[in-house]
Amino acid sequence: MAFGFFKKKIQDVLPGKVTTDREELFCYGFDASSTDGAPSAVVRPENAEEVSEVAAFAFENNVPIVPRGAGTGMTGGAVPLKDAAILSFEGMNRIIDIDAENMIAVVEPGVINSHLQEKLEDRNLFYPPDPASMKFCTLGGNVAENAGGPRAIKYGVTKDYVLGLEAVLPDGRILTTGGPTYKGVVGYDLTRLLVGSEGTLGIITKIFLKVVPVPEETVTLLCTFSKLEDAARGITKIISSSIIPRTLEFMDNESIRAVENYKAFGLPVHEEALLLIEVDGSRAAVNEEAEKIVAICSDFHGTVSVAGDIYSKQSIWEARRSISPALYHIKPNKINEDIVVPRGKIPEMLAVLRDIAEKKDLTIANFGHAGDGNIHVNIMTDKNDEEEYGRAKDSVKDIFEATLKLGGTISGEHGIGLTKKQYVGMELSDTSIEIMKNIKDVFDPKGILNPGKMFPPD
Ligand SMILES: Cc1cc2nc3c(=O)[nH]c(=O)nc-3n(C[C@H](O)[C@H](O)[C@H](O)COP(=O)(O)OP(=O)(O)OC[C@H]3O[C@@H](n4cnc5c(N)ncnc54)[C@H](O)[C@@H]3O)c2cc1C
Repeated sequence: MAFGFFKKKIQDVLPGKVTTDREELFCYGFDASSTDGAPSAVVRPENAEEVSEVAAFAFENNVPIVPRGAGTGMTGGAVPLKDAAILSFEGMNRIIDIDAENMIAVVEPGVINSHLQEKLEDRNLFYPPDPASMKFCTLGGNVAENAGGPRAIKYGVTKDYVLGLEAVLPDGRILTTGGPTYKGVVGYDLTRLLVGSEGTLGIITKIFLKVVPVPEETVTLLCTFSKLEDAARGITKIISSSIIPRTLEFMDNESIRAVENYKAFGLPVHEEALLLIEVDGSRAAVNEEAEKIVAICSDFHGTVSVAGDIYSKQSIWEARRSISPALYHIKPNKINEDIVVPRGKIPEMLAVLRDIAEKKDLTIANFGHAGDGNIHVNIMTDKNDEEEYGRAKDSVKDIFEATLKLGGTISGEHGIGLTKKQYVGMELSDTSIEIMKNIKDVFDPKGILNPGKMFPPD
């Protein structure tokens, strides 16, 4: 089917909600990965029925469609392949309900994560998943990627808060899974199947979320270490000491310096590592846990300051959330991986990463959600330097091999999308991939929904 025909006819299906202007299309061709594509149309539906009409029309005419939130994905999930129409959810950004009595929020997919957080704060509630991109990513994108964030160590990730979904299938049928109850075991758990499916099974149009009360007290600690090994061993000790911190974030020296060069927060640029640790709960429990953490960090030669003494809580978190953009001051391009190892293996993994950087003569900046064993590995490079870029790409396989050898996984939260699909076979067996392909066929027999993503190339 000619895409030109689709473009002309889709204007009739959703008049005034389709654009084919070159300049506008350009803005929908990339995400936060280093990949890009060229969509042929952008459609902005305003409700599930309109999504359904577009999907049914695309299905009938064999036109690929790609759901897109804010385009902050790190793996090219929202990047269109040739002749695809983008389904953008800017017009579906309503918070439908905050039910404080039942501790549930119902939202459309285009709601920005932090907008929900702000509305919940007014009611002394919060939604725990807090990706560092929370000020601009959408909840639809968070569900599709099963996003995590610093608070995951204590509160879990997106899948732990999605009670139900409404999703449009590629042929236009509207599917509802779960709903506004905290429990439900009737049939297969299709909610869990859709969460993390990266826009390849269904188009999410409504989300039922669990929310929780704001804890009485939160204490924020900044611990710095002159030796990376001490920080790594400190992490292992904290998580094996019956304390569950609310966050346990890690930055290595490359990340600290990049952030400080980006904006002067006053971070200690000569230290090899920094831990950003929060504990929350009742006032008494928090003080006790904070004291234990200070003692552990001191045992490993760390220097601890409490937010408020030198740094404000807000500036510490702003510094943490600035790492990704700040790294581009080291080199114009980065290959960004988000490996996870069993938490006790963090010291070993950090040592391996240091070895790989040395052997391949590359700058690798590491930071991340250390409390989950989730390390964001950023191989800094310049695509114009072909030789260096080649070395950078080669090192990815070495990093994944080492990760898997330690019992880890190649992605903790950024998903597979386009950039990691060639490595999926390193982790998943042929049987797993075959079953996943069969599931994809059931949802999307014509393969029109976000094609070319997640599965290794044949
Ligand atoms: C600076 C920075 C920091 C980040 N920090 C974190 C972090 O701490 N934790 C973390 O997990 N991630 C993080 N990310 C990655 C990214 O923000 C998350 O993956 C986020 O969930 C993507 O949301 P989005 O709205 O931008 O989705 P997009 O990038 O637009 O899309 C992502 C995927 O979701 C699909 N999708 C989007 N909307 C829908 C829908 N309604 N229905 C079906 N599929 C849909 C798309 O097809 C695509 O496959 C970070 C990114 C940046 C740039």
